[in-house]
Amino acid sequence: MNLPASTLLTLWETGVAYAPAARPAALLAVSTGESVDVTARLPLGQRDACLLDWYGKLAGTRLSALTDCPQCGKPVELEFDVADVQRPSGGNGTVTVDEAGWSLTWRPPDTLDFCHAAKPGTVEAARRILLERCLTTSGGAANESPPAHLMTRLMDLAAVADPQADVRLALDCPACGAAWQAPFDIGAFLWTRLQAEALRLLGEVHELAAAYSWSEREILSLSPARRSTYLELTRRT
Ligand SMILES: [Zn+2]
Repeated sequence: MNLPASTLLTLWETGVAYAPAARPAALLAVSTGESVDVTARLPLGQRDACLLDWYGKLAGTRLSALTDCPQCGKPVELEFDVADVQRPSGGNGTVTVDEAGWSLTWRPPDTLDFCHAAKPGTVEAARRILLERCLTTSGGAANESPPAHLMTRLMDLAAVADPQADVRLALDCPACGAAWQAPFDIGAFLWTRLQAEALRLLGEVHELAAAYSWSEREILSLSPARRSTYLELTRRT
């Protein structure tokens, strides 16, 4: 990533301090200068669109990753463009179904909703939490749940209205020919890259500090070319 070493470590340090569910909003806050209170209130799709845009500017628009084939278990390399995982914005993502005396409104979940739902529990419990937080209903008798077909229609509309929140990539395995769809999560992808680069950088600081007794600040202020040359020299001895 095209970031000064100190900025990269600040981002990594910020990310480490947050739970995985909250981390994308925290990274976006650092990158945009907004407060986490603001980025955590963005619908997930809108938040991820901002992260993708930011990543494209930092690291280029070509993305690569490794995954395992669900059929044969062999590693599969993927390469794609930011444009391949960008979805058109569908407005603010709130959708409504009015029918048969019912009025159902769904607002797209944000990071705070997701953090509540991501607490240890079952998938069903997470779904219930999201419904409690994001669904508003009126109609029906007391304690009556909305009809299932209206809920299905509402959720179908919600998926169309916030498409960036659930991006899937079509993958195939060159070894066994299996084809499948895998979710793409820019927050997790970005964190994996940041984590790898930060740990590599800290390892370099460790080696150079031990060899030359330089401070972290002095080592990080070296250009990448000088840093790698000194590292090469210390490893020769
Ligand atoms: Zn395979």
